[in-house]
Amino acid sequence: MISVDELRSSFKGQVTTDGDTDYDISRWAKSAVRKAKYVAYPVDAEDVSKAILFARANNLELAICGGRHSTAGASSSEGGLVIDLGKKMNNVRIDAEKQLAYVQGGARWGAVDEASMKHGLVALGGVVSDTGVGGLTVGGGYGWLTGEHGLVVDNLVSATVVIASGEILIASETENADLFWGIRGGGSNFGPVTEFVFKLHKQRSDVYFTELVFASAKLPQILDEVEGWLKDQCPKEATHLAFAGGPDGSPCVVLFGFYNGSFEEGEARFGRFAALGPLLNKTRSLPYPEINNVLEFSIGENRLFRGAFLPKFDKKVISRIDAARQKLVAEYPSTAKSTLVLELYHFGKVSSVPIDATAYPGRHGNSNIGMVFEWSDESLSSQARQISKSVMGDITDEETSGYGNFCDADVGRGKDRVMEQFGSNYTRLAIIKRKYDPENVFHRWFAITPA
Ligand SMILES: Cc1cc2nc3c(=O)[nH]c(=O)nc-3n(C[C@H](O)[C@H](O)[C@H](O)COP(=O)(O)OP(=O)(O)OC[C@H]3O[C@@H](n4cnc5c(N)ncnc54)[C@H](O)[C@@H]3O)c2cc1C
Repeated sequence: MISVDELRSSFKGQVTTDGDTDYDISRWAKSAVRKAKYVAYPVDAEDVSKAILFARANNLELAICGGRHSTAGASSSEGGLVIDLGKKMNNVRIDAEKQLAYVQGGARWGAVDEASMKHGLVALGGVVSDTGVGGLTVGGGYGWLTGEHGLVVDNLVSATVVIASGEILIASETENADLFWGIRGGGSNFGPVTEFVFKLHKQRSDVYFTELVFASAKLPQILDEVEGWLKDQCPKEATHLAFAGGPDGSPCVVLFGFYNGSFEEGEARFGRFAALGPLLNKTRSLPYPEINNVLEFSIGENRLFRGAFLPKFDKKVISRIDAARQKLVAEYPSTAKSTLVLELYHFGKVSSVPIDATAYPGRHGNSNIGMVFEWSDESLSSQARQISKSVMGDITDEETSGYGNFCDADVGRGKDRVMEQFGSNYTRLAIIKRKYDPENVFHRWFAITPA
């Protein structure tokens, strides 16, 4: 046994417990908060290793925390030890000459954008600057630049991982290649990544961005127009359709359009939507990092993510998203802030990589549907999973698993659900899990059973 005092005496960072000033278990979603016995804030991989060994010696559950956005509680632990990388391991270093970003495991995407864009370079990251690099990367990773550069995992060059034995390993195509394969989509199953090295791309400074808010009655015309736009969608552009409540609560559809080019080029592609008569039109050129600040969410509400794949652009199914949301809000008014999003990226680059090239399984050209199920009536907390499931059931014809980072509602649902999530990549993941985490120490996300 190692005592906490022994751990503290050799720890360069901080080990806190309830009552300490810096003990912080807050999360993006209030419903994901769990009362950890210890929250450790390491400063480097050696600290992380010590925290793992301490937790294992004391039979404490381990959770890894990056940007705190999991709504499943995957980065939290009731009574265990949280390795929170976000406080003291969030540095970003750019090697402009080699076009590489060295990003510590607790950094957020905004910091990566800011550091890289000073050099006219960009890493493919998520669409909200506040989300963590850690969870978004190990789960796969989509962003506005996915059409041009693929998934975040496709841009990962190497990583430093601290495995369950406490060893600090480099994972890349040439070192521990199986581990490198596993962390590119296998989530937090293999241990904390203390540093990611990403490929950077040349990026123009200003990009085109449009936000058009429509009354949801316009949905049929919007979908006809989107169908036309999709026919010659190019890798530089993407659309999100968000189904939400407007300022007065009435249902609306928000079309976000991104074009990695000039205002004129963007208008040539997206002007067609403004012609449909939106209630609100915010169209402009913005510095690239700022488009990742457009989508803002308050922090600390009850929220649960649920995801599904949309196999093809099916207007009937998409119309059901709007109808299902309206039905939900009519039945449970405290869910009025719930939002559903359909992400329409160009999938050429993503699907050019074979499904077995990385652990990430969702490369079949399907669009993501993501639901942020939000509720203020606390009495709904115990039913959130079930209610959100029935909303998704109203939309999709059959139960399809979705992008893992949007499937929080199904985390912890047992081995069959985990196998479904990873599909044909599960068998290899289980073998790699046996090698690097045979006792399933890292089990807070879709936990792979060691083979
Ligand atoms: C507002 C919002 C916007 C989003 N936008 C996008 C988007 O544009 N694209 C996209 O692909 N996804 C997006 N997501 C989903 C997002 O990818 C997941 O929520 C992701 O888990 C967030 O990671 P995090 O580090 O912030 O969360 P955390 O809660 O800290 O962690 C989530 C999971 O990742 C693990 N983890 C975190 N850091 C590390 C690390 N360094 N090493 C190993 N495991 C780690 C945790 O253990 C946990 O299992 C969004 C989510 C939200 C809430």
